[in-house]
Amino acid sequence: MNRVFNFYAGPATLPVEVLQIAQEEFLNYKGLGMSIMEISHRAKEFEAIIHEAEANVKELLGISDNYKVLFLQGGASNQFSMVPQNFLKPEMIANYVVTGSFAEKAYKEAKNLGQAHVAATTKEYNHDRIPGQEEIALSDNPAYVHITTNNTIFGTQYKYTPDFGNIPLVADMSSDIMCQPIAASRYSLIYAGAQKNLGPSGVTLVVINKEMLENAPKSLPSMLRYDLMAENDSLYNTPPSFSIYILNLVLQWLKEKGGLSAMAKHNQEKAALVYQAIDNSRGFYKGHAQKESRSLMNVTFTLPSTELEKKFLMEAEQHNLVGLKGHRSVGGMRASIYNAMPKEGCQALSDFMKDFMEKNG
Ligand code: PMP
Repeated sequence: MNRVFNFYAGPATLPVEVLQIAQEEFLNYKGLGMSIMEISHRAKEFEAIIHEAEANVKELLGISDNYKVLFLQGGASNQFSMVPQNFLKPEMIANYVVTGSFAEKAYKEAKNLGQAHVAATTKEYNHDRIPGQEEIALSDNPAYVHITTNNTIFGTQYKYTPDFGNIPLVADMSSDIMCQPIAASRYSLIYAGAQKNLGPSGVTLVVINKEMLENAPKSLPSMLRYDLMAENDSLYNTPPSFSIYILNLVLQWLKEKGGLSAMAKHNQEKAALVYQAIDNSRGFYKGHAQKESRSLMNVTFTLPSTELEKKFLMEAEQHNLVGLKGHRSVGGMRASIYNAMPKEGCQALSDFMKDFMEKNG
Protein backbone atom coordinates (compact mmCIF):
# COMPACT_ATOMS: atom_id res chain seq x y z
CA MET A 1 0.00 0.00 0.00
CA ASN A 2 1.35 3.42 -0.95
CA ARG A 3 -0.28 5.38 1.88
CA VAL A 4 1.49 8.59 2.91
CA PHE A 5 1.29 10.33 6.29
CA ASN A 6 -1.42 12.89 5.63
CA PHE A 7 -1.34 16.04 7.78
CA TYR A 8 -4.18 17.91 6.01
CA ALA A 9 -6.43 19.92 8.33
CA GLY A 10 -9.68 18.59 6.86
CA PRO A 11 -10.90 16.63 5.09
CA ALA A 12 -8.23 14.64 6.82
CA THR A 13 -6.71 11.22 7.24
CA LEU A 14 -9.09 8.41 8.18
CA PRO A 15 -8.26 5.15 9.95
CA VAL A 16 -7.01 2.73 7.31
CA GLU A 17 -9.04 -0.06 8.95
CA VAL A 18 -12.20 1.98 8.30
CA LEU A 19 -11.29 2.55 4.67
CA GLN A 20 -10.65 -1.16 4.26
CA ILE A 21 -14.07 -2.13 5.66
CA ALA A 22 -15.72 0.45 3.40
CA GLN A 23 -13.80 -0.96 0.44
CA GLU A 24 -14.81 -4.53 1.22
CA GLU A 25 -18.47 -3.52 1.59
CA PHE A 26 -18.51 -1.02 -1.24
CA LEU A 27 -20.22 -3.01 -4.00
CA ASN A 28 -22.29 -5.31 -1.86
CA TYR A 29 -23.31 -4.12 1.59
CA LYS A 30 -23.94 -7.12 3.86
CA GLY A 31 -25.17 -9.34 1.03
CA LEU A 32 -27.78 -6.86 -0.25
CA GLY A 33 -26.23 -6.84 -3.73
CA MET A 34 -26.10 -3.00 -3.54
CA SER A 35 -23.83 -0.37 -2.09
CA ILE A 36 -24.97 1.39 1.08
CA MET A 37 -24.94 4.51 -1.11
CA GLU A 38 -27.63 3.03 -3.32
CA ILE A 39 -30.28 2.17 -0.75
CA SER A 40 -33.10 4.27 0.62
CA HIS A 41 -32.47 6.22 3.79
CA ARG A 42 -35.74 4.67 4.99
CA ALA A 43 -34.45 1.12 4.42
CA LYS A 44 -34.00 -0.81 7.65
CA GLU A 45 -30.30 -1.35 6.90
CA PHE A 46 -29.65 2.39 6.81
CA GLU A 47 -31.89 3.13 9.77
CA ALA A 48 -29.85 0.58 11.74
CA ILE A 49 -26.67 2.49 10.87
CA ILE A 50 -27.97 5.92 11.88
CA HIS A 51 -29.39 4.58 15.16
CA GLU A 52 -26.16 2.78 15.91
CA ALA A 53 -24.21 5.97 15.17
CA GLU A 54 -26.39 7.88 17.62
CA ALA A 55 -25.85 5.23 20.30
CA ASN A 56 -22.11 5.20 19.64
CA VAL A 57 -21.85 8.98 20.00
CA LYS A 58 -23.70 8.81 23.32
CA GLU A 59 -21.56 5.97 24.59
CA LEU A 60 -18.27 7.58 23.57
CA LEU A 61 -19.14 11.02 24.96
CA GLY A 62 -20.80 9.51 28.03
CA ILE A 63 -24.05 11.43 27.61
CA SER A 64 -27.47 10.60 28.94
CA ASP A 65 -30.89 10.48 27.31
CA ASN A 66 -31.27 14.18 28.17
CA TYR A 67 -29.36 14.75 24.94
CA LYS A 68 -30.30 14.23 21.32
CA VAL A 69 -27.68 13.38 18.70
CA LEU A 70 -28.29 14.83 15.25
CA PHE A 71 -26.57 14.35 11.90
CA LEU A 72 -27.10 17.50 9.85
CA GLN A 73 -25.87 19.11 6.64
CA GLY A 74 -24.38 22.47 5.74
CA GLY A 75 -21.12 21.95 7.62
CA ALA A 76 -20.11 23.50 10.92
CA SER A 77 -20.58 26.84 9.12
CA ASN A 78 -24.33 26.30 8.98
CA GLN A 79 -24.28 25.87 12.76
CA PHE A 80 -22.80 29.38 13.06
CA SER A 81 -26.21 30.76 12.05
CA MET A 82 -28.46 27.93 13.21
CA VAL A 83 -27.41 28.44 16.84
CA PRO A 84 -28.53 32.10 17.02
CA GLN A 85 -31.56 31.44 14.83
CA ASN A 86 -32.80 28.88 17.33
CA PHE A 87 -31.59 30.34 20.63
CA LEU A 88 -31.09 34.09 20.37
CA LYS A 89 -34.25 35.86 21.46
CA PRO A 90 -34.57 39.56 20.55
CA GLU A 91 -34.19 40.82 24.15
CA MET A 92 -31.13 38.67 24.80
CA ILE A 93 -27.46 38.84 23.86
CA ALA A 94 -25.35 36.06 22.37
CA ASN A 95 -21.86 35.91 23.93
CA TYR A 96 -18.81 34.78 21.96
CA VAL A 97 -15.26 33.99 22.98
CA VAL A 98 -13.29 34.84 19.86
CA THR A 99 -10.17 32.67 19.74
CA GLY A 100 -9.74 32.28 15.98
CA SER A 101 -11.14 32.75 12.51
CA PHE A 102 -14.01 30.28 12.87
CA ALA A 103 -15.00 31.72 16.26
CA GLU A 104 -15.10 35.14 14.60
CA LYS A 105 -17.25 33.83 11.76
CA ALA A 106 -19.64 32.34 14.29
CA TYR A 107 -19.81 35.69 16.13
CA LYS A 108 -20.47 37.59 12.89
CA GLU A 109 -23.39 35.33 12.00
CA ALA A 110 -24.96 35.98 15.39
CA LYS A 111 -24.37 39.72 15.08
CA ASN A 112 -26.08 39.67 11.73
CA LEU A 113 -29.15 38.06 13.28
CA GLY A 114 -29.45 39.85 16.62
CA GLN A 115 -27.50 41.22 19.55
CA ALA A 116 -24.05 39.71 20.02
CA HIS A 117 -21.17 40.47 22.38
CA VAL A 118 -17.48 39.56 22.28
CA ALA A 119 -16.91 38.24 25.81
CA ALA A 120 -13.16 37.87 25.19
CA THR A 121 -10.88 37.97 22.18
CA THR A 122 -7.27 37.03 21.47
CA LYS A 123 -7.20 38.74 18.09
CA GLU A 124 -4.53 41.31 18.97
CA TYR A 125 -2.09 38.45 19.69
CA ASN A 126 -3.01 36.68 16.43
CA HIS A 127 -4.90 34.11 18.49
CA ASP A 128 -1.85 32.48 20.04
CA ARG A 129 -3.60 31.44 23.26
CA ILE A 130 -6.89 30.62 24.98
CA PRO A 131 -8.17 33.17 27.52
CA GLY A 132 -8.67 32.04 31.11
CA GLN A 133 -12.13 31.92 32.61
CA GLU A 134 -11.41 35.16 34.51
CA GLU A 135 -10.80 37.02 31.24
CA ILE A 136 -14.24 36.20 29.87
CA ALA A 137 -16.61 39.09 30.57
CA LEU A 138 -20.23 38.30 29.77
CA SER A 139 -22.87 40.85 28.78
CA ASP A 140 -26.16 41.34 30.62
CA ASN A 141 -28.93 38.98 29.61
CA PRO A 142 -26.75 36.37 27.91
CA ALA A 143 -28.66 33.92 25.70
CA TYR A 144 -25.69 31.54 25.62
CA VAL A 145 -21.88 31.53 25.54
CA HIS A 146 -20.20 30.17 22.43
CA ILE A 147 -16.65 28.82 22.47
CA THR A 148 -14.44 27.09 19.89
CA THR A 149 -12.66 24.33 21.79
CA ASN A 150 -9.88 23.88 19.24
CA ASN A 151 -8.73 26.56 16.81
CA THR A 152 -7.74 24.68 13.69
CA ILE A 153 -5.85 27.50 11.99
CA PHE A 154 -3.93 28.81 15.01
CA GLY A 155 -3.29 25.52 16.81
CA THR A 156 -4.74 26.40 20.23
CA GLN A 157 -7.08 24.37 22.42
CA TYR A 158 -8.97 24.87 25.67
CA LYS A 159 -7.51 22.97 28.62
CA TYR A 160 -10.55 23.64 30.79
CA THR A 161 -14.32 23.75 30.43
CA PRO A 162 -15.58 27.28 31.11
CA ASP A 163 -18.31 27.49 33.73
CA PHE A 164 -21.06 30.08 33.48
CA GLY A 165 -23.58 28.46 35.79
CA ASN A 166 -26.99 28.16 34.18
CA ILE A 167 -26.12 30.06 31.03
CA PRO A 168 -26.08 27.57 28.15
CA LEU A 169 -22.60 26.72 26.88
CA VAL A 170 -22.36 26.09 23.14
CA ALA A 171 -19.19 24.72 21.59
CA ASP A 172 -17.79 24.31 18.12
CA MET A 173 -15.68 21.15 18.51
CA SER A 174 -15.09 20.60 14.80
CA SER A 175 -11.37 20.01 15.15
CA ASP A 176 -11.12 18.22 18.49
CA ILE A 177 -14.32 16.27 18.95
CA MET A 178 -13.59 12.89 20.54
CA CYS A 179 -9.85 13.49 20.83
CA GLN A 180 -10.11 13.08 24.62
CA PRO A 181 -12.82 12.68 27.26
CA ILE A 182 -14.89 15.83 27.87
CA ALA A 183 -17.39 16.94 30.48
CA ALA A 184 -20.18 16.64 27.90
CA SER A 185 -22.97 17.34 30.38
CA ARG A 186 -21.59 20.86 30.87
CA TYR A 187 -22.54 21.77 27.31
CA SER A 188 -26.01 22.61 26.08
CA LEU A 189 -25.00 22.17 22.47
CA ILE A 190 -21.91 20.74 20.78
CA TYR A 191 -21.38 20.75 17.04
CA ALA A 192 -18.64 19.45 14.78
CA GLY A 193 -18.15 19.08 11.05
CA ALA A 194 -17.19 15.41 10.62
CA GLN A 195 -14.31 15.85 8.21
CA LYS A 196 -11.49 16.08 10.75
CA ASN A 197 -11.97 13.59 13.55
CA LEU A 198 -15.14 11.72 12.65
CA GLY A 199 -15.30 10.85 8.98
CA PRO A 200 -15.77 12.38 5.56
CA SER A 201 -17.20 15.83 4.83
CA GLY A 202 -20.92 16.24 4.25
CA VAL A 203 -22.23 15.50 7.73
CA THR A 204 -22.17 17.64 10.87
CA LEU A 205 -22.62 16.12 14.30
CA VAL A 206 -24.83 18.05 16.74
CA VAL A 207 -25.33 16.98 20.34
CA ILE A 208 -28.06 19.03 21.98
CA ASN A 209 -29.60 19.08 25.42
CA LYS A 210 -33.31 18.37 24.92
CA GLU A 211 -34.24 21.35 27.14
CA MET A 212 -32.84 23.60 24.41
CA LEU A 213 -35.40 22.24 21.95
CA GLU A 214 -38.39 23.43 23.91
CA ASN A 215 -38.23 27.15 23.20
CA ALA A 216 -36.88 27.17 19.67
CA PRO A 217 -39.04 29.27 17.31
CA LYS A 218 -41.40 27.30 15.07
CA SER A 219 -41.30 30.06 12.47
CA LEU A 220 -37.87 29.11 11.14
CA PRO A 221 -37.46 27.34 7.81
CA SER A 222 -37.87 23.63 8.52
CA MET A 223 -34.30 22.68 7.63
CA LEU A 224 -32.99 25.14 10.25
CA ARG A 225 -35.07 23.82 13.15
CA TYR A 226 -33.26 21.61 15.65
CA ASP A 227 -36.57 20.50 17.16
CA LEU A 228 -37.85 19.22 13.82
CA MET A 229 -34.58 17.45 13.07
CA ALA A 230 -34.73 15.84 16.52
CA GLU A 231 -38.38 14.77 16.15
CA ASN A 232 -37.45 13.07 12.90
CA ASP A 233 -34.27 11.41 14.17
CA SER A 234 -32.24 13.33 11.53
CA LEU A 235 -34.38 11.71 8.81
CA TYR A 236 -36.59 14.70 8.03
CA ASN A 237 -35.18 14.64 4.53
CA THR A 238 -32.50 12.58 2.76
CA PRO A 239 -29.38 12.65 4.95
CA PRO A 240 -25.81 12.27 3.64
CA SER A 241 -26.07 8.53 4.03
CA PHE A 242 -22.63 7.49 2.84
CA SER A 243 -20.93 10.03 5.15
CA ILE A 244 -23.01 8.78 8.09
CA TYR A 245 -22.07 5.19 7.26
CA ILE A 246 -18.34 6.04 7.33
CA LEU A 247 -18.79 8.14 10.47
CA ASN A 248 -20.31 5.13 12.21
CA LEU A 249 -17.36 2.98 11.15
CA VAL A 250 -15.04 5.60 12.66
CA LEU A 251 -17.04 5.54 15.91
CA GLN A 252 -16.75 1.73 16.02
CA TRP A 253 -13.02 2.07 15.40
CA LEU A 254 -12.78 4.55 18.31
CA LYS A 255 -14.54 2.09 20.59
CA GLU A 256 -12.26 -0.76 19.52
CA LYS A 257 -9.23 1.42 20.24
CA GLY A 258 -10.41 1.88 23.83
CA GLY A 259 -12.60 4.99 23.59
CA LEU A 260 -11.71 8.56 24.44
CA SER A 261 -9.32 7.92 27.36
CA ALA A 262 -7.18 5.73 25.14
CA MET A 263 -7.40 8.39 22.41
CA ALA A 264 -6.23 11.09 24.86
CA LYS A 265 -3.12 9.08 25.71
CA HIS A 266 -2.44 8.31 22.05
CA ASN A 267 -2.89 11.98 21.09
CA GLN A 268 -0.72 13.30 23.93
CA GLU A 269 2.12 10.99 22.97
CA LYS A 270 1.80 11.98 19.32
CA ALA A 271 1.66 15.73 19.98
CA ALA A 272 4.64 15.50 22.37
CA LEU A 273 6.80 14.10 19.56
CA VAL A 274 6.14 17.10 17.32
CA TYR A 275 6.27 19.76 20.05
CA GLN A 276 9.57 18.29 21.28
CA ALA A 277 11.01 18.74 17.80
CA ILE A 278 10.02 22.42 18.00
CA ASP A 279 11.25 22.95 21.58
CA ASN A 280 14.58 21.20 20.99
CA SER A 281 15.35 23.17 17.83
CA ARG A 282 16.97 26.14 19.64
CA GLY A 283 14.60 28.54 17.91
CA PHE A 284 14.88 27.13 14.37
CA TYR A 285 11.22 26.14 14.57
CA LYS A 286 8.95 28.65 16.33
CA GLY A 287 5.62 27.37 17.66
CA HIS A 288 2.73 29.80 17.08
CA ALA A 289 0.65 28.79 20.13
CA GLN A 290 1.77 29.68 23.63
CA LYS A 291 2.78 26.50 25.45
CA GLU A 292 -0.15 26.31 27.86
CA SER A 293 -2.66 26.63 25.00
CA ARG A 294 -1.07 24.16 22.59
CA SER A 295 -3.47 22.01 20.60
CA LEU A 296 -3.26 18.23 20.57
CA MET A 297 -4.72 18.27 17.07
CA ASN A 298 -3.09 21.05 15.04
CA VAL A 299 0.57 21.88 15.61
CA THR A 300 1.52 25.23 14.06
CA PHE A 301 5.09 26.47 13.58
CA THR A 302 7.22 28.65 11.36
CA LEU A 303 10.79 28.36 10.04
CA PRO A 304 13.43 31.13 9.85
CA SER A 305 12.53 32.15 6.25
CA THR A 306 9.93 31.56 3.55
CA GLU A 307 12.66 30.00 1.39
CA LEU A 308 13.33 27.40 4.08
CA GLU A 309 9.60 26.82 4.47
CA LYS A 310 9.27 26.05 0.75
CA LYS A 311 12.23 23.70 0.92
CA PHE A 312 10.80 22.03 4.05
CA LEU A 313 7.47 21.37 2.33
CA MET A 314 9.13 19.99 -0.79
CA GLU A 315 11.47 17.67 1.09
CA ALA A 316 8.73 16.59 3.50
CA GLU A 317 6.65 15.41 0.53
CA GLN A 318 9.62 13.41 -0.71
CA HIS A 319 9.52 11.69 2.71
CA ASN A 320 5.79 10.93 2.27
CA LEU A 321 4.80 13.66 4.76
CA VAL A 322 1.97 15.48 3.00
CA GLY A 323 -0.37 18.43 3.70
CA LEU A 324 1.89 20.40 6.05
CA LYS A 325 1.44 23.89 4.60
CA GLY A 326 0.02 26.23 7.24
CA HIS A 327 -2.91 28.59 6.81
CA ARG A 328 -1.97 32.00 5.40
CA SER A 329 -3.01 33.83 8.57
CA VAL A 330 -0.24 32.10 10.56
CA GLY A 331 2.14 31.13 7.75
CA GLY A 332 4.67 28.35 8.11
CA MET A 333 3.53 24.83 8.81
CA ARG A 334 0.56 23.11 10.34
CA ALA A 335 0.66 19.44 11.21
CA SER A 336 -2.88 18.21 11.77
CA ILE A 337 -2.57 15.06 13.82
CA TYR A 338 -6.16 13.98 14.41
CA ASN A 339 -7.16 10.68 16.03
CA ALA A 340 -6.53 8.68 12.86
CA MET A 341 -2.92 9.86 12.48
CA PRO A 342 -0.78 6.97 13.71
CA LYS A 343 2.05 7.61 16.15
CA GLU A 344 4.47 6.52 13.43
CA GLY A 345 3.36 9.56 11.40
CA CYS A 346 4.30 11.94 14.23
CA GLN A 347 7.58 10.08 14.78
CA ALA A 348 8.40 10.35 11.08
CA LEU A 349 7.59 14.08 11.09
CA SER A 350 9.63 14.67 14.24
CA ASP A 351 12.63 12.78 12.79
CA PHE A 352 12.34 14.71 9.54
CA MET A 353 12.19 18.03 11.42
CA LYS A 354 15.38 17.21 13.35
CA ASP A 355 17.18 16.11 10.24
CA PHE A 356 16.06 19.18 8.27
CA MET A 357 17.21 21.51 11.05
CA GLU A 358 20.64 19.86 11.24
CA LYS A 359 21.12 20.28 7.51
CA ASN A 360 19.71 23.81 7.23
CA GLY A 361 20.02 25.40 10.68
N1 PMP B 1 -15.10 25.43 12.92
C1 PMP B 1 -13.84 24.97 12.97
C2 PMP B 1 -13.11 24.96 14.28
C3 PMP B 1 -13.23 24.54 11.79
O1 PMP B 1 -11.97 24.10 11.81
C4 PMP B 1 -13.95 24.58 10.58
C5 PMP B 1 -13.38 24.09 9.26
N2 PMP B 1 -12.06 24.00 9.11
C6 PMP B 1 -15.23 25.09 10.59
C7 PMP B 1 -15.79 25.48 11.78
C8 PMP B 1 -16.04 25.18 9.33
O2 PMP B 1 -16.46 23.91 9.01
P1 PMP B 1 -17.23 23.54 7.68
O3 PMP B 1 -16.26 23.64 6.58
O4 PMP B 1 -17.72 22.15 7.96
O5 PMP B 1 -18.36 24.51 7.54
